[in-house]
Amino acid sequence: MVTLKIDGRELQVEADSTVLEAALQAGVKIPTLCNLKDINKIGACRMCLVEDARSGKLQASCALPVSEGLEIITNSAKVLNARRAVLELILSDHDRSCLTCKRNQTCELQALADELGVTEIPFEGEFIPRTIDEASPSVVRDNNKCILCRRCVAACSKIQCINAIGMQNRGFRTEVGTPFATSLGETDCINCGQCITACPTGALTEKDATAEVWAALADPNKFVIIQPAPAVRVAIGEEFGMPIGTSSTGKLAAALRRLGADRVFDVDFGADLTIMEEGTELLDRIQNGGVLPMITSCSPGWVKYCEHFQKDFIPNLSSCKSPNQMQGAITKTYFAQQQGLDPKNIFVVSVMPCTAKKFEISRPEMGRDSYRDVDANLTTRELARMLRQASIDYMNLPDEAFDDVLGDSTGAAVIFGVTGGVMEAALRTVADILEGKDLQQIEYTAVRGIDNIKEATVTIAGTEIRVAVAHGTGNAGKLLDRVRKGECSYHFIEVMGCPGGCVTGGGQPLVNARTRYEIDPKLARAKAAYACDEALPLRKSHQNPSIQKLYAEFLGKPGSHKAHELLHTSYVER
Ligand code: SF4
Ligand code: SF4
Ligand code: SF4
Repeated sequence: MVTLKIDGRELQVEADSTVLEAALQAGVKIPTLCNLKDINKIGACRMCLVEDARSGKLQASCALPVSEGLEIITNSAKVLNARRAVLELILSDHDRSCLTCKRNQTCELQALADELGVTEIPFEGEFIPRTIDEASPSVVRDNNKCILCRRCVAACSKIQCINAIGMQNRGFRTEVGTPFATSLGETDCINCGQCITACPTGALTEKDATAEVWAALADPNKFVIIQPAPAVRVAIGEEFGMPIGTSSTGKLAAALRRLGADRVFDVDFGADLTIMEEGTELLDRIQNGGVLPMITSCSPGWVKYCEHFQKDFIPNLSSCKSPNQMQGAITKTYFAQQQGLDPKNIFVVSVMPCTAKKFEISRPEMGRDSYRDVDANLTTRELARMLRQASIDYMNLPDEAFDDVLGDSTGAAVIFGVTGGVMEAALRTVADILEGKDLQQIEYTAVRGIDNIKEATVTIAGTEIRVAVAHGTGNAGKLLDRVRKGECSYHFIEVMGCPGGCVTGGGQPLVNARTRYEIDPKLARAKAAYACDEALPLRKSHQNPSIQKLYAEFLGKPGSHKAHELLHTSYVER
């Protein structure tokens, strides 16, 4: 520990802290832009300048280590004037179209301009107009709103280990670019959207699908079904003022109905269905000498990463489609038949915590000759925008249920949104099948939590099943390297493309840098998902009566020919 003074107050902090971290601990707020907890600590933007009381020097507090006897002033006139000048310079080279910007009111740059009292820009200079890159199916890049903080680059290269974007050119011409200045859609980008959630401004946003959903809702010939993913219910409330980690399942169902959906289904049903198919596939591979370890395939960011960077593991991927695609496929066959609807007239909208889903729905494997399994994908943020546009008062909505039968689900499904959740849900069902009874011990805590890689050995009916869980493609790559080298071996691996799993996917409500020092959204939202699981009467996918009915009336049994035709897929080397 070292002792230092911040604004005249003495405090003790750990010796490896920065002054910024020490100030946060003391409850002193210092503005930042490039700093992002656990992701980016480069001292580039100079917003966090503080004054060394003894030398009078200004220093970037995010890059200044604490030391014994250090005395720091965070709010002298010199500090405030310097910070304001830095911000004015950043804004002088910025497309300041706040009113029409998607980040209006969630922009960290805009909030700082307000906080520091910037009311005019004294610097007039050259402005280089940049081309907006809209070719990616998931991410729109607008460098006119980029402040060169490099948070996106750190998320993409350090956390996800993709390197689809990086800094290019020098001096005034510096910008975030792609290899060979191609559009992002032509790179190895996996569409995870982690760059978007890292970005403090409107320079990175999701590809907007709200217009096509509004058009479908207004079309009298379309039967519109909206289906949210498990992770959406534990985060969307934040868009309307709920604390991070609040679930609002009932309000979500009510909101989708108010928006005008003809049916409100739940991708949790698709998650239960995935467990039936994936659990069967796992048992088949273990018992009949199939390719092991089997690796989950629910996360389209992870799947694309595997297709680009881990091609030798493609045969290990489960052949199961993701829950969202399974749900769409069943909606346009089983549900369409039941209701006498032409699948071509059904318009399925999924609400996802994920930007990679926008790519997944367009994969040629995800549909049939004349229609797609899922027609449009909204992120949680886009749905919130639509609800605001429709003046739906989310906070005062009553709790409602999803519609029968593709709205029925179990607790196993809701934890799909959390890293380790798919593994736990699968183990609950596989254990019951192998043991031949309704086991009461169903919480597999070894696969819970946010350790980068989790491992466990589970003994079921005398058989040892070795499992591992990785979240974020950077961690997945490290785990697969170890498997490849023979340093470890597993029967089953769960990989989620985003750190934390879907609860902190690239389409979820944004959490600003300051809040991330106080609350870890990965943990808070996961806690809410586990609470939803505990509160449900049924917590195992195979006990979902609507899933049982689907197999009895339509699919036959898990892994049947029909199930394979509708619910399974294939992959390509990229
Ligand atoms: S990025 Fe922020 S400051 Fe820039 S136009 Fe958008 S809201 Fe305004
Ligand atoms: S979407 Fe993911 S892979 Fe693509 S640039 Fe952003 S962080 Fe990198
Ligand atoms: S795109 Fe966003 S995160 Fe990336 S450098 Fe620009 S402002 Fe920062």
